[in-house]
Amino acid sequence: MTKQFRPSDLATLVVHAGEERDGGGLVPPIHRSSTYELGEPETFDDIRYIRLNNTPTQKAVERKLGALEEGTALVTPSGTAAVWLAIAASVGPGDRILAPVRVYGGTRKILDHLAEREGVEVRYVDLEKPDTWAEALSETTRAFYMESIANPWMSVPPLDQVVAFCREHGLVSLVDNTLATPALFRPRPFGIDISIHSASKHLNGHTDVVLGAVIADAERGLAIRKLANKLGVCPDPEPCFLLNRGMKTLPLRVSAQCAGALALAQALDAHADVETVHYAGLEADPSHGRAAAWFGGFGTMLSFVPSGGKERAQALIRALRYPVEAPSLGGVETLICRPATTSHAGLPAELREEMGVPDAMIRVSVGVERPEDLIADFEQALKASASMSAA
Ligand SMILES: *Cc1c(COP(=O)(O)O)cnc(C)c1O
Repeated sequence: MTKQFRPSDLATLVVHAGEERDGGGLVPPIHRSSTYELGEPETFDDIRYIRLNNTPTQKAVERKLGALEEGTALVTPSGTAAVWLAIAASVGPGDRILAPVRVYGGTRKILDHLAEREGVEVRYVDLEKPDTWAEALSETTRAFYMESIANPWMSVPPLDQVVAFCREHGLVSLVDNTLATPALFRPRPFGIDISIHSASKHLNGHTDVVLGAVIADAERGLAIRKLANKLGVCPDPEPCFLLNRGMKTLPLRVSAQCAGALALAQALDAHADVETVHYAGLEADPSHGRAAAWFGGFGTMLSFVPSGGKERAQALIRALRYPVEAPSLGGVETLICRPATTSHAGLPAELREEMGVPDAMIRVSVGVERPEDLIADFEQALKASASMSAA
């Protein structure tokens, strides 16, 4: 029996929600079996098989995630699969979807594919100009896609206006909540229809899993699950087990990461060799007011542009002791990269420029290390790479 909790009890929910004690064990086991005894199935959906996304290890983690974000959760083999399924279940040939120019590179590729090959019309809008959204509407517009914190600018869109606009025009709202996580923001109670995650990031938090998730109401959740079943898109039990374990420390990790990100953002902001810092925790940041009003913290990631161009930025990265230069984010270790060569590398240079991703921009996913150690490391690396500034 699953116990009931108030939605606000996140720290309690991550530990207890969805857990079913199996033979007295405190931890849900990994059920490796691909298929299950038939018994007396009443419908096709009673047949249990890993590819049908309905076996116990996956269901355990889906119960927890569904409780955290108040909906029906589907865990997918990657965040990319989650984005794809959520969009493909919301729009078809001839339909239009609105999306921001500033969107995750992989999502942009999915939208481009759907536009080129599947007859979906994509209109890119500026999330900071709500007055212009209506101009992008047509009779066939069905959905509005965005991210609750957009990477690498760490910007928070006017989500209240998005909810109102989607209700007024009968659009499905989709939010990629990967960077915020339910520890900072829960899209569905806020009024968003579909929440999407790369669970490879904060939800798992230990850089050893690739998974995704979609959380929706029961009806849309079923449609998305059926689409996944038809495509043969399903996660394996082992990563589902690891995700269930990782989520139990989500609020602890995220609050430590937010504290570290704020301290680092303030130190970089005060540094003479840093031109720009993007972090909602800085009072001058355009997203400060929204994050303060709606989020349980200012975020675990920041980006900044040092003076001296991309050569200096690269020298700075190489001079750091703790942050590892690697793509991905949300783990306990601090990761660093230049978006121009990672998340947005697949896009043409002109599009990167249009999106506002300069080559010298550095993105930091702050881990759970002691903030003072990280700050001292960035200060020595800024100094060590300073000679490049003149170049
Ligand atoms: C990483 C990421 C994805 C893709 O997730 P994968 O698990 O790598 O497929 C989608 N959206 C955002 C915001 C991400 O950071």
